[in-house]
Amino acid sequence: DALTGLPNRRMFHEHLRQEMKKTDRSHLPMALVFIDLDHFKEINDTLGHDKGDLLLKEVAIRLSAAVRGTDTVARLGGDEFTVILSELHNAGDVVRTAQEILRQMSTPFNLGNAGDKHIAHISSSIGITLYPEDGADAETLIKNADQAMYAAKQQGRNRFNYFAPFMQEATRVRMTLVNELREAVNHDELRILFQPIIDLASGKICKAEALVRWQHPVRGLLNPAEFISIAESSGMIVGIGDWVFKQAAREVQKLQALGLPDFQISVNKSAWQFRDNGSNYEQWLDFLQELHLDANSIIIEVTENLLLDTANSVSERMLALQHAHMQISLDDFGTGYCSVAFLRRFDIDYIKIDPTFVSNLSNGTDGVVLCEAIIAMAHKLDIKVIAEGIETPQQLAALTAAGCDLGQGYLFSKPISAEELEKQIKN
Ligand code: C2E
Ligand code: CA
Ligand code: CA
Ligand code: CA
Repeated sequence: DALTGLPNRRMFHEHLRQEMKKTDRSHLPMALVFIDLDHFKEINDTLGHDKGDLLLKEVAIRLSAAVRGTDTVARLGGDEFTVILSELHNAGDVVRTAQEILRQMSTPFNLGNAGDKHIAHISSSIGITLYPEDGADAETLIKNADQAMYAAKQQGRNRFNYFAPFMQEATRVRMTLVNELREAVNHDELRILFQPIIDLASGKICKAEALVRWQHPVRGLLNPAEFISIAESSGMIVGIGDWVFKQAAREVQKLQALGLPDFQISVNKSAWQFRDNGSNYEQWLDFLQELHLDANSIIIEVTENLLLDTANSVSERMLALQHAHMQISLDDFGTGYCSVAFLRRFDIDYIKIDPTFVSNLSNGTDGVVLCEAIIAMAHKLDIKVIAEGIETPQQLAALTAAGCDLGQGYLFSKPISAEELEKQIKN
């Protein structure tokens, strides 16, 4: 921009797209701040263009000083400016910056020189959008920021508005959780429980599923439902998943040494962990070697969505793991859109029948037919079937009659600690 030396509208659009990409990679939220000066037109009309231009230059200097070095200030034209706050670590950063801009803009500007004093009083109206929450593309993000700014004007000027007011609270809560989870990882607050998987023919525990928990210092023991999605969207799932893998490997090593050479432990993996900046699966294999374990000591549980994921890295990594003889179990089977072609392509070892099918077994519905069909198909493809969420003896009986191989559920055991698992196995 010739007048202020700031990036102009076109450059701003470029910056914005770059910052959005950066956010997609780092998962640290980004804010778009729209600033419109209040009363600029009056000043320009009464004091003249020269003073108006001088004011805009001063505004540009103050804006640049109000933001962090990594943020981008641009002039959109006229008396409209914008700031891109990138890679926010702290929800407070947005509010602090908006308040500082309001303060700077409402501090009188001296437009005169030594002789003539021209004090200009203006203020600003600010609209804020957050990426990705308030818009997936640049156009929407800009439109919504403009709308939030317009609302700030309507509400009396010299104030800032979030596009979605609840976002202020939502970002705060989300960022608090992200920060706490980061601490949790550093402070050993994560735990693993193991849920036994029973061989239905012998009634013996032959495998276990590793399930993560968060021992929160204030809120107590948290289930994955309360933090896995945050771990995924913040990228932390990679580190957490690697930790779970190692814990599971150590436990399976212990159990195999106790005289159960074929014991296996399964771990859950979300699609995130198979993408480009996901886990280094070679490290998993190396770790198993370090512990002198066969690769098939660990079973990887994935969902149907993962097999349908179009990212090449996902299928490449899956196939590489299988090539190294790690086994794959298809979780929540029946709830997604997986075709038999995928089962073949990925040479799946186990299918886990979703609890929704199992719970239908007791009340004499189509449940039995469905389970029988899944089991027959799986066996034709040389796949073993694990029924999940078995809670009643009736369900167990129906599954056994249908030829199901393995079972897991509260009827046998809830997820338990490693010590309890070892105790149950000995009994
Ligand atoms: P999932 O893989 O389908 O795990 C089975 C869930 O069903 C577990 O819940 C287990 O406690 C519960 N369950 C087992 N038997 C019964 C039963 O008889 N009745 C009922 N009502 N529920 C039963 P949990 O531990 O809360 O895990 C929830 C989900 O969190 C898991 O679903 C899995 O998708 C995810 N998860 C757990 N640990 C990890 C992990 O280390 N990494 C990743 N990426 N995801 C994980
Ligand atoms: Ca204006
Ligand atoms: Ca699972
Ligand atoms: Ca499941």
